[in-house]
Amino acid sequence: MKMAKVDEGKAKHAIFEYDPVMQDMVVFGLLGGSFFIDYELPMSVQMGRIFVLLRMAVALGLQTLFYGETIIRYMYPSTLNLRAYDKAQHERESISWPSLLISGINVSIILAFKVIPLPHEMPIFTWPSLLVTLAMHAGPVEFLYYWTHRYAHEIPSMYKIHKHHHLSIVPTPKTGLTFLWSEHVFYEALFALPPLVCSIVGVPTLMSSLFYIPILDFVNQIGHINLEIFPDGYLDSILLPLFYCPSYHHVHHKYFKYNYALFMPIYDMMFGTYSEKYTKRDFENAKSLLYTKKL
Ligand SMILES: [Zn+2]
Ligand SMILES: [Zn+2]
Repeated sequence: MKMAKVDEGKAKHAIFEYDPVMQDMVVFGLLGGSFFIDYELPMSVQMGRIFVLLRMAVALGLQTLFYGETIIRYMYPSTLNLRAYDKAQHERESISWPSLLISGINVSIILAFKVIPLPHEMPIFTWPSLLVTLAMHAGPVEFLYYWTHRYAHEIPSMYKIHKHHHLSIVPTPKTGLTFLWSEHVFYEALFALPPLVCSIVGVPTLMSSLFYIPILDFVNQIGHINLEIFPDGYLDSILLPLFYCPSYHHVHHKYFKYNYALFMPIYDMMFGTYSEKYTKRDFENAKSLLYTKKL
């Protein structure tokens, strides 16, 4: 592979100035600990709480792995954006937790009104449910996300809202959850499509109802780890149109007007917003830094 020329002085500043994990652990511990206090809550409320805990566990797990004091962080330091992750960003991203609580309340209300069945009334997994979920995701969810996201950059009044996500120049897993509430509400509605359609066509499962969004969180946050973990040559593989990689979304955070897709670059490729040049260049730079251990 071509070795990229890297500014070593800049690379040394990729050391993080603030440990973001402890405060979040306290929030997670308090919510998890609440299971030991009350057992009499309705099933819908319990499920809403489990949903929030799942989403927090995904975010905290990835944040700890890549931004806590872990071996991974030292063995594989961030290689995409080399700026330091600072306290102001940590504080801004911590405010995203209340939005997760709201998503739990949404789940509780949906279950209480029997829009989708209660967990003990449906199987964990079925193939038809997976097919409907994948079709709904790859079609309407990705398409609507692409165009809304693109307009959120092209229409100034929409960008005022979306800008909050882009204040995080150095993406971290929690950046994937950092939006103003109005944008969160839109995503709540958009990502409710697959579970609701599964329920309407008679194939609801725990996978579609409870795990689909935490899985989305995981994939979304992998796109924000600021480290390229995909193999060499991935950008030339036939998988790229179907599934992105951290460099792909990093280019969106760096240049703003390319790579709008949620997880499926095929929409950028179809509508002319995929930057092959910048994505390949930054992918290769990140790999070179990792191989040469210049950090
Ligand atoms: Zn954006
Ligand atoms: Zn992002």
